[in-house]
Amino acid sequence: MTDAQVAPMVRFICSNQGPKYKSMREVPAAKRWSQSELRRRRNCPAAGIYAYDMLRKQKADDSAHALYFGTFIHRATDLWMRTKEIVTVLKWIEAQLPHLRKESDMRMARAMMTGYCVLWKSAKVQSVANGSRFCVPFPETTWAGRNGHYLCGEWDGVVRWNGTTYMRETKTSSEDISMGSAYYTSLRMDSQTQLYYGAAEAMGYELEGVMYDVLGKPANKVPVSGDLDAYEKAMLKSLQNSIEGKTKRKYMRYDILITPEQVEAAWEDASETIRARVEYGLDYRNDGACRKWGRLCEYFDVCTGMADINDNNRFQTKEAKHEELA
Ligand code: SF4
Repeated sequence: MTDAQVAPMVRFICSNQGPKYKSMREVPAAKRWSQSELRRRRNCPAAGIYAYDMLRKQKADDSAHALYFGTFIHRATDLWMRTKEIVTVLKWIEAQLPHLRKESDMRMARAMMTGYCVLWKSAKVQSVANGSRFCVPFPETTWAGRNGHYLCGEWDGVVRWNGTTYMRETKTSSEDISMGSAYYTSLRMDSQTQLYYGAAEAMGYELEGVMYDVLGKPANKVPVSGDLDAYEKAMLKSLQNSIEGKTKRKYMRYDILITPEQVEAAWEDASETIRARVEYGLDYRNDGACRKWGRLCEYFDVCTGMADINDNNRFQTKEAKHEELA
């Protein structure tokens, strides 16, 4: 099914029956929930309040770097899916340089996408529908659905892969991403994908599974000399070795089945997270979430009495509740 065929179907579903699909602007902020917000509130209700009720974030927050780089790669893979032109993708990456924190990020993205485009050039994957932002109501079977809440996000679109229709989900990781790895296994509990899958079905897409398109980050470091040409060359070499099977895979595409039970459970979990905040006012601190991925939570000094959340030297107010979707 092509994009042009899907669009009228989505419009029909949205305007006539079933879920009322809306644009972000049509849904009041208090009824709008992103997966990042839900995850944060689930990890630590207090952190959710600082970030999404008080809209405070740390100044010059580098902890968001992994997410930021992931989004950058994400956009590059989108462009590849639409054009299948390596030159276009690499030129786009280079053009982003003024918007990036470091030139080394551009170099890494360029190396990663070079290997990606070369490896997947002849794969039988066609884009059926481009990804887009969405706002869909929670199902009526959930508390959030009965109370008019919406899930908003940005999904990666639909592809035909070897004759089967999949939702595409792009991921970037520094972990071992090979089949059977902890990373691969943990995707069975990937609530974001399960929710987005449910949202895509609510928008009228008929899917047969998820194609996880995973890019592993090269472990190379910028040399002490700061020579970025040498850095990029070393990354290309290590990515080539991985493509040739000499080292662990840095590019994986997994075909994963999502069951209706998984989608239902993901909606229910998300709904209960919202209910915990809206109906019960949950605001406790979870000390089990203070240190993750080797770094402290950005609000650690606030929770330990060393800083004030209203201190504008340490924190700033976000421009929007969901800046990533604004
Ligand atoms: S420091 Fe710990 S308790 Fe405080 S907001 Fe962060 S995760 Fe929650």
